[in-house]
Amino acid sequence: MYEVTHFIGGERVQGTSGRTSDIFDPNLGRVQGQVALATEAEVAKAVENAKAAQPAWSATNPQRRARVMFEFKRLVEAHMDELAELLSSEHGKVVSDSRGDVQRGLDVVEFACGIPHLLKGEYTEGAGPGIDVYSMRQPLGVTAGITPFNFPAMIPCWMAAVSIACGNTFILKPSEKDPSVPLRLCELFMEAGAPAGVLNMVNGDKAAVDAILQHQDIKAVSFVGSSDIAHYVYSEGTKNGKRVQAMGGAKNHGIIMPDADMDQVVKDVVGAAYGSAGERCMALPVAVPVGKKTADTFVEAMLDAAQGLRVGTSTDMDAHFGPVVSSAHREKIESYIEMGVSEGADLKLDGRGLKLQGHEEGFFIGPSLFDNVKPEMRSYQEEIFGPVLQVVRAESLEEAASYPSNHQYGNGVAIFTRSGGAAREFAQSVNVGMVGINVPIPVPVSYHSFGGWKRSAFGDVNQHGPEGVRFWTKVKTVTQRWPEGDIGDQSFIIPTMQ
Ligand code: NAD
Repeated sequence: MYEVTHFIGGERVQGTSGRTSDIFDPNLGRVQGQVALATEAEVAKAVENAKAAQPAWSATNPQRRARVMFEFKRLVEAHMDELAELLSSEHGKVVSDSRGDVQRGLDVVEFACGIPHLLKGEYTEGAGPGIDVYSMRQPLGVTAGITPFNFPAMIPCWMAAVSIACGNTFILKPSEKDPSVPLRLCELFMEAGAPAGVLNMVNGDKAAVDAILQHQDIKAVSFVGSSDIAHYVYSEGTKNGKRVQAMGGAKNHGIIMPDADMDQVVKDVVGAAYGSAGERCMALPVAVPVGKKTADTFVEAMLDAAQGLRVGTSTDMDAHFGPVVSSAHREKIESYIEMGVSEGADLKLDGRGLKLQGHEEGFFIGPSLFDNVKPEMRSYQEEIFGPVLQVVRAESLEEAASYPSNHQYGNGVAIFTRSGGAAREFAQSVNVGMVGINVPIPVPVSYHSFGGWKRSAFGDVNQHGPEGVRFWTKVKTVTQRWPEGDIGDQSFIIPTMQ
C-alpha cells in the first residue's frame, strides 16, 4: 500500500482532509494505494504558491523557459521505462501502449520547446503617419488543468507544457484513479530546473474541481473527461469569469467504402476499436461499411481478427490489451452489451465473463462485436468506452456520413477508401472535428491542434499546437508614435485614416 500526495511549492505534501480514494491494481482487482482528496483550503494553498511563482516565471525569457522544457524532455526519456510501468500498474493498459501515452505527451513538450518562436507577435510599420502597431502574447497568470484517467501522462502534458512555456504557472488536478505518473512528472519537472510553484498538483474529486472553478486567482481552466462533467466545468468556469476549454466524450465512426483495401481496414479497425480496451477518446467503436457485400466481408474478417486477440495483464508482452480501469467501469461496459442485445443488435462475439487464470479478480473483459446496430438504439447513441465494436450498415456514402454527422459526439471520424474524390468530399462536409483518411485514429501531431465538435468539446479553442498557445495567452496590441515638434490641434473625432 502506498499513498499519493499532493505536490505544492516544489514538494510532496500530505493531504489533510482525511478523505482518500482507493487506487486499484486492475490486473488483480485489488486496492494497492490511496490518494489524498484535497479540500478547498489545499487548492487555495496550491494557488498561493502558483501565484507567488508566476511574476518571476513570466519574466524569465522564453528561451530559458524552453531550456527547462528541453531538460524535462531528456529526463522523461531517461525515466521512460519507470513511467510506463507505473502507468500500466494503475491504468491497466499494456506497457508498450503506456510508452505511447508518455511519448505523445513528450511530443507536446517538444512543441513547447519552440515557445520563443511561438510567442512572437505581429508588427505593422507605418500603420499611420509615424505610427507603428505591434501585438504581443502575454501569459494569463495562474492556470489549471483537470484530466481523465485514460491518458495520465499525455493529457497533463497537453495542457501544462504549453501553459507553462507561455509563462503561466499551473495547477494540475489529475484523475484520482491513476495519479502516480502525474506526480512523478511534477517531480521531474522540478528536477529539470523549474522554480517551485510553477507546476503544482492537487488530487481530488468534485470538491477539488469546484474549488478550482471558484478560485478568483485561477484565470483559465482546461478540462478533459466525460461530456456531462465537461459541460459542467465549462458552464461553472465561464460563469466565474474564467477562460475554459472542456473536451468531452466521443463515439467515433469508421466509414468503409466498397473500394477500400479490406485487409488493411481490418488491421486498422481491430487496433483502433480494441486497443487500450477501447478506453480512448479517439478509439473507433463504430464501423459503417457501405453496401451489403462490404459489410458481410468486413464482419466476417473482423470476427476472425477479434477472436484472435489476446487479453492479458498489462505486463504481458504478447497481450493486445489489458484490463479496464475499474470493476464499476467493467460493469458499465457489460450493461451496454446487455442493452445492445435487448435492443435487437446481433451480438457476434461476447467478451463478458472473461477470467484470466491467476488473475480471477482482475477487471478483464474480452472483445465484443455487434452487427446490425441501428442509429435509434441507445447503446449506439451513448459512449461505451470499452472493447466493443458496433457495426452500423449503410447503403451509400451519403447515408454512412450522416451517422457521425448527426451523432451527439463529434470527436473523430475516419473514412477508408481508394477514392480521392470521395475522401475529399467527406472530409469537407462531415460534422466532426478530426478526420482520418485511411488513418483510423486521427489524433493530430503536437504542432497541430486537437479538438472535437458538438458534445465532444465545449469552448472554441483546441488543445496544443497554435490553438493551445492562443488558449494560454492573451493578446495585447500597442499603437505607438514618437511625435516631434507640432502635433496639431486637439481632436474630438475618433481617429480615422484619411
Ligand atoms: P471523468 O469525467 O469521470 O473524469 C474526468 C475528471 O473530472 C477527473 O479528474 C475527475 O476527478 C473529475 N470529476 C469526476 N467527477 C466529477 C464531478 N462530478 N464534478 C467535477 N469533476 C469531476 O472522465 P474519466 O472517466 O476519467 O475519463 C474518460 C472520459 O474522458 C471519456 O468520456 C472519454 O471520452 C473522455 N476523454 C475525452 C478526451 C477528449 O479529448 N475529447 C480525451 C480523453 C478522454
